[in-house]
Amino acid sequence: MSTAIVWFRRDLRLADHPALSAACEAFERIIPVYIHAPHEDDPWPAGAASRWWLHHSLSRLDAQLRGHGNALHLAQGDSLPVLRDLIERTGATAVFWNRCYEPAAIARDSAVKAALREQGIEAHSFGGLLWYEPWQIETKQGEPYRVFTPFWKNLRQRLDTQRPLPIASSLRGVDIDGGLPIDALGLLPGIPWDAGLQNAWQPGEAGAQELVDIFLDDAISDYAKARDLPARHGTSRLSPHLHFGEISPRQIHYRLTERVAATDARRRPDIEPYLRELGWREFAHHLLYHFPGTPTENFNDRFNRFAWADDDVALERWQRGRTGIPLVDAGMRELWHTGWMHNRVRMIVASFLTKNLRQHWRHGTRWFWDTLVDADLANNTMGWQWVAGSGADAAPYFRVFNPVTQAQKFDPEGHYLRRWLPELSSAPLPLLHEPWKDAGLLKRSGYPAPMVDLGGTRQSALDAYQRMRNA
Ligand code: FAD
Repeated sequence: MSTAIVWFRRDLRLADHPALSAACEAFERIIPVYIHAPHEDDPWPAGAASRWWLHHSLSRLDAQLRGHGNALHLAQGDSLPVLRDLIERTGATAVFWNRCYEPAAIARDSAVKAALREQGIEAHSFGGLLWYEPWQIETKQGEPYRVFTPFWKNLRQRLDTQRPLPIASSLRGVDIDGGLPIDALGLLPGIPWDAGLQNAWQPGEAGAQELVDIFLDDAISDYAKARDLPARHGTSRLSPHLHFGEISPRQIHYRLTERVAATDARRRPDIEPYLRELGWREFAHHLLYHFPGTPTENFNDRFNRFAWADDDVALERWQRGRTGIPLVDAGMRELWHTGWMHNRVRMIVASFLTKNLRQHWRHGTRWFWDTLVDADLANNTMGWQWVAGSGADAAPYFRVFNPVTQAQKFDPEGHYLRRWLPELSSAPLPLLHEPWKDAGLLKRSGYPAPMVDLGGTRQSALDAYQRMRNA
């Protein structure tokens, strides 16, 4: 019987899975495998929150496959020898996978593909993580884009509503032993700090589809406005599911357009603002693919001369949510407890770190990398460099978010602040937004005084920027 291996990576789903569909079409039996090889992701092996997600997502994928009469074979080690061993033991003659775009993954996959082909094994890779491959969208001059708006215009006009691929009708497998139990991968934290994650998330394909249902039933109609309000569930919260490929952007687009078509014209939701955010995700992958040094290097090399401050104590206060600036602390504590932070708040905490505290954006990316369940090299790099001002199409450096006026505007009732800062939960408005105005409140609550003066540090950051420009 003809046998193929399907190598799962960041595509932990069965539906709309191009590699799986192609393998099932051409081969009688398939072996689904996941290889745990964190060293191959160096210098960006998954952080603690991502590993937690991965553990649960792999368990759910295995359960799904068992429901179809197959199972997920788990292995650990270098990818190529693991694949070769499986080939030898099962007589498989082909390996199928969906592509990843991190520099380390590209290097590994190219080497694996070449080595397998040399050995006479078929190796087929597919696009499944994005709408378009990063090299398919280019400027008229054949260059990569560096600015989002023309990139999006180009992509948007090509974007058609393709029907996602169904789950293959037969997922017949092979009995093989030697697979590892999921616990052997050691993905869960040694000290159990993950209760907050358990309460907030349901990793896996079913969890992703459920979130799409919830989003379509409710938040989509008001998305353009509510997406800026951290106290509301005004966004889809699909980012970790998208990162691990438990859902594809094609599936989301299809579900959105289906819903529009089924809705009475007067109540039809405007899906464009939401598609545009998925467009930013595509742009981030486009940038990472074409500028692979940017996870650690300034996109705009003028920033190589910027005078960053180096202050471990300040960094730690930021990480722990003890800066004394309510919206910054609320965001950092939301991140710590749930593995996620609202997008507007991400921009504000990043601006505070890189501008008011003048810490290098690399400190921010690293902390997010370890604590976010949606930590994603493309999106995280673009987000941090955008806020820091050093990125492609970045926010101008002089745009320093004021966390007080941002809180007054986007959390006017203080619901978000009260949720994450329990010591201030009974503080009245407007003091909640500026608790330092009442020394008694700080004393009673134990909430810290601001670690810096917002106005003064803003000015110092602008001065440092001016010095960099003059240099
Ligand atoms: P929705 O508003 O429902 O958007 C739908 C999807 O579009 C998201 O799931 C995400 O995949 C994509 N998206 C939305 N906004 C952006 C954006 N600004 N850039 C790129 N893609 C976007 N996102 C990550 O997925 N992983 C990260 O590691 C990450 N790090 C970030 C760091 C900083 C400093 C900043 C400012 C943003 C970062 N983002 C990151 C982008 C954004 O904050 C999250 O994607 C978003 O908050 C996820 O929530 P959601 O799924 O409810 O988004």
